[in-house]
Amino acid sequence: MEHKNEKQNTISTVFKVIKLVKKLKPDYLPFLLITKLIAAGQPFVNIYLGSIILDMIVDRNSVNEIMQYVYVMVGLNFILTLSRWGLEFLTGVFRRIITERTSQMISEKSLSLDYELLEKKETLAMIHKAEAGMNSHGDIGTFCDLLGRLIERIFKIFCSIGLLAGLFIPVKAGKLSGLAGFMNAGYSGLSLLIIIAFTLLAAFYLNRWTGKQEQKSFEDNVESNRRFGYFYNFVWNYALGKDIRLYRMDDMIMDEIDQDHKRMETVSNKMTNSYNISSIISNLIVIVFEVASYIYVGLKTILGLISIGSVLRYISALREFRDGLGGLLDIYVNIGIRSRYLAYFSDFMELENQKHKGTLPIEKRYGNRYEIEFRDVSFHYPNNSEMVLSHVNIKLRVGQKMAVVGKNGAGKTTFIKLLCRLYEPTEGEILLNGINIKEYDYNEYMRLFSIVFQDFQLFSFSLAENVAASLEYNKNRIEHSLEKAGFGERLKDMPGGIDTNIYQMRENGVEISGGEAQKIAIARALYKNSPFVVLDEPTSALDPVSEYDIYKRFDELVKDKTAIYISHRMSSCRFCDHIVVFDEGTIVQDGSHDELLKDAENLYHQLWTAQAQYYA
Ligand code: ADP
Repeated sequence: MEHKNEKQNTISTVFKVIKLVKKLKPDYLPFLLITKLIAAGQPFVNIYLGSIILDMIVDRNSVNEIMQYVYVMVGLNFILTLSRWGLEFLTGVFRRIITERTSQMISEKSLSLDYELLEKKETLAMIHKAEAGMNSHGDIGTFCDLLGRLIERIFKIFCSIGLLAGLFIPVKAGKLSGLAGFMNAGYSGLSLLIIIAFTLLAAFYLNRWTGKQEQKSFEDNVESNRRFGYFYNFVWNYALGKDIRLYRMDDMIMDEIDQDHKRMETVSNKMTNSYNISSIISNLIVIVFEVASYIYVGLKTILGLISIGSVLRYISALREFRDGLGGLLDIYVNIGIRSRYLAYFSDFMELENQKHKGTLPIEKRYGNRYEIEFRDVSFHYPNNSEMVLSHVNIKLRVGQKMAVVGKNGAGKTTFIKLLCRLYEPTEGEILLNGINIKEYDYNEYMRLFSIVFQDFQLFSFSLAENVAASLEYNKNRIEHSLEKAGFGERLKDMPGGIDTNIYQMRENGVEISGGEAQKIAIARALYKNSPFVVLDEPTSALDPVSEYDIYKRFDELVKDKTAIYISHRMSSCRFCDHIVVFDEGTIVQDGSHDELLKDAENLYHQLWTAQAQYYA
């Protein structure tokens, strides 16, 4: 049963590869076919013409006659070699394009995955397997080569059978007895075929064994590779370098790297041993075959059953025949083994986002009259069954500024993550204008929000590209947004203005401070100009002057938008119309600053007075 599956798998892989290659570069297959037909046919032209020339020399034909064949042989070789080189160059270029496109497919797919999925260890392992498989043993380029070799070998087998036919047809030389009789009879060829079959079978099992070892070592190394990548990143990532040096974590990290190295080395040593054993045995198999064919053809020649010229033809044709058949088996095993790597790739490409795909467009509403309501929402993260939010009920008041406060870990950021659909509620629903947000088209829905997360990220693009989050932008609006976010003065010092690259991954990239980065992130949110502005600890890295500056202009920044504002700075709540207090995943108070302060027992009062002590 397993064998049948394997066979089906191998054959279906060939078709899958053909389909994928046809999609990625339609010209590749026809060119590959012609290239391989020429590559397979050329040796036979030489074997055939070579044996004729040899016979002519033995038969003492005239030099002129012989030279005619020599010219044909040289001419044909010249044409075939040149055209093969040209075609090989072209198919090589196509093959590179195909490989690059598959790697692009993995990146595009990873970027399009639900954030929720990306957080799962299993998804990360899938991406890693698809990528590692495609970059090493199972890349589509290798499959293209195998496909090419498959075509070449099939053609080779046909040509060699054509040439070999004469070797097994008895000559009509009267009654032959003894060894000559046996060798002349068709069934003597059978003994040779049995030896060929034996050597092929041995090679087949040997290849399969090596392939399985290779697969096993790949599997054994996946986790070590991933961990190694993670820890190795610490060695050169200067953003992490500070903490590592301050806390002397170098030994800890080197220990991890060493351990992963050792694990990978053990696996790779085992693999090298398997390759060595396999290579010795396969050389022995070839020797057995060569000796058998020389004895067979040699005996026939000595016994006068075939001409001297045919020795060359038959020995070469036998070699090509075995090579063709052996190659076919080798390719079969190889495709079978490698199809698992391709399966990693296709499994990943077929991975479905789990988020409900809404299709509803979002109607344009004047005055940003978009109403959002959390209705009895509870939530736990995918990798932890403990509820982080429980029975949250809240309506965002259109055009108002809402502050969300609470202790660390109360669920404030999670509340925002649900609002912008990075995760779906475990229970309950979130409604936009009375309809579950799941039903809306995701991209349209996301256009409603300008968010600055606490752990926002900027990227090594230009300042303008970061603010626009796009390669195209409106220069004036970029400058305006940066100015509003308090980056105006610093912008004047930037060597290339808004075209200055940030971070050192790019040429002449400049380094920026945490506070400056935060201002750029705020500018990015302002540039997006969405009806909802969400700021999660937006001023945590700002100096008091910049912070005051942002608060002062908060009204102007937000205008008629609905704003949600998470902050530990309780004084900033005074800028807000509406305050929601989170505690252990539930909303414990909800009202205006003055209303909430009335009750001296409540959490808001405690948080407020705790901080007021230091600011009084
Ligand atoms: P806050 O913003 O109020 O400080 P969060 O919403 O960030 O709190 O976190 C609430 C709880 O959820 C915390 O206990 C935190 O450990 C947990 N949490 C946050 N992110 C994740 C995650 N990706 N996976 C599992 N648990 C998480």
